[in-house]
Parts: sequence; structure tokens; C-alpha cells
Amino acid sequence: MSDGGTTAGSGAEGRSGSIERREIPVSAVDYSPVAVMPDVKVVKIGGQSILDRGRAALFPILDEIVAARKLGIQVVILTGGGTRARHIYSIASELEMPTGIVATLGKYIPMQNARMVQMLLAKHGGIYILPDDFEKLPLYMQLGCIPVMSGMPPFGYWEKRDENSRIPPHRTDAGVFLSAEFLGSRRAIFIKDEDGLYTDDPKKDPGAQHIARITSSELVARGLPDVVVERKVIEYMPRAQWCKELQIINGLKPGNVLAALQGQDVGTIISAG
Ligand code: ADP
Ligand code: MG
Repeated sequence: MSDGGTTAGSGAEGRSGSIERREIPVSAVDYSPVAVMPDVKVVKIGGQSILDRGRAALFPILDEIVAARKLGIQVVILTGGGTRARHIYSIASELEMPTGIVATLGKYIPMQNARMVQMLLAKHGGIYILPDDFEKLPLYMQLGCIPVMSGMPPFGYWEKRDENSRIPPHRTDAGVFLSAEFLGSRRAIFIKDEDGLYTDDPKKDPGAQHIARITSSELVARGLPDVVVERKVIEYMPRAQWCKELQIINGLKPGNVLAALQGQDVGTIISAG
């Protein structure tokens, strides 16, 4: 619990200059944040890739998550948006809405999905939470609950625009990564409908090759035409303090979800570096 103390207290000692000053020593920013709940597995259930496919895709995944919870594995589920989110993004963009409004509108869809997943898991301890409820996670975990929340990060009106897009750059994949990073979880798990990362979208290019392991910098260097997670996450990974790996798995294949929750390297691992 020791505090390096490099900057601590400087505010209390009176005016000490702008926080943006370039001369702040590297040691002041190169720190190791507390891993708040490192044992919690942060898991995304894809919107378009899973939830939009309905019960045939979703129910077996929930069964495996419940089985993992019964083994004592702590899981937080975050939900994606999918086709309904893409619909509102396209309408709002066509109407020239600011990105902050597009992000605010888009947040309701993964929220609806989270509410449905919570009800489906209610009898197994499914509980709906908001980002502000992270502080209650220790209690929920001790009670054996399975917290479910929207994957959308709560930037809303304050979402920033990327240079070449009006669509919010931080969507539910980013929310999952940022949640894992905050909680101190080493690996964020993405349940989607393909075996992981390929050299191109396997739905469009049947000859695309599977990539079992890759680093974020190799992935950027390869300049793939399309990728399986939001590019913002790949961009952030080298700066991660805790969430050093993304695992993308195919939730349509039985056994993958439980294997991933047990720490096995199924699917694709994208590591920071
Ligand atoms: P989610 O609903 O979980 O957000 P998305 O549909 O947004 O998932 O993204 C997953 C999809 O990305 C896959 O179903 C696949 O068709 C597509 N995809 C695009 N590029 C790739 C790639 N290089 N490797 C694997 N999948 C890719
Ligand atoms: Mg997506």
C-alpha cells in the first residue's frame, strides 16, 4: 500500500504550477496502479456476433458462464450493441448529429442487451450494474453473483471524435478493455462468432488465415484490411498497465467459453507490445 509519493501532497503545499508542465519527472507518471480486483474475469458477449443471433447462440454461452461461476471463477459480463446500435449510429450520423449525441444514443442498445442477459441469469445470481457500481463488486462477488453491465464506456456527450469518423471511437470493445484495465484484470475475454483474429474478415474472405497469437504492434504493422476488435483497443494496448492481453474466442463452439474462463489459450491472444 506504499505510495511512491512523487507528486503526493504537492497540491496542498500551495501553487506548484500547471499539472501539464513538461518537466514533471517520468517517475511521476511511470507508476504501478493498484490492481483493484485482478481475479475478476471481464467478459464481453458480442452484440452483433452473439446476442443478435438469439437463444441458439446465447443460451449455451450463459450455461458455460454459470458453470464457471459454480467452479468459483469470478465473472463480470459486459454486453455489446449489435445491429440496433449500428442502426442508430447510421441514422444519427446521416442527420449530422455530433459524436457525443451518437455515443449517447448508442449506449441504450447494449444497456437493453445487458438487461436481458441479467434476467436470463437472474436465477443464477445475475445482477444488473452500472459503471458506478464497480465499488460494489467485492460484495457481489462474495455473494456468488454474476454482475452484468453494458459494455459502452460512459463518455456519452463527452465522447471525442476520431479524425475520419463520426462514429464514437470508444464502443463496447473499448469499454471491456478499459474495465479490465481499471479492475487490474490481465486478460479481457471477447466472446464473438469467429475463432479469433484472421488475416481478413473470414466472412468476406474464405481464404483468410487464422492468427493464434500476435502483439498489438505487429497487428498495427500488418495493416490488415479489417480487424475483429475496435481499433481503439489495439491503439491503447501498449499503454496498458494491467490488461496486457485480449482473448477473442468463438462462443458458437461448445466448450470455448468455459476453457477461456479457466485460463486456457483458446481462440486468439493479442498481447500488448
Ligand atoms: P461484436 O458484435 O462482438 O462487437 P463484431 O461483429 O463487431 O462483434 O466483430 C466481430 C466480427 O468481426 C466477426 O464476426 C468477423 O466477421 C469480423 N471481422 C472483421 N475483420 C476480422 C478479422 N481480421 N478477423 C476475424 N474477424 C473479423
Ligand atoms: Mg463490434
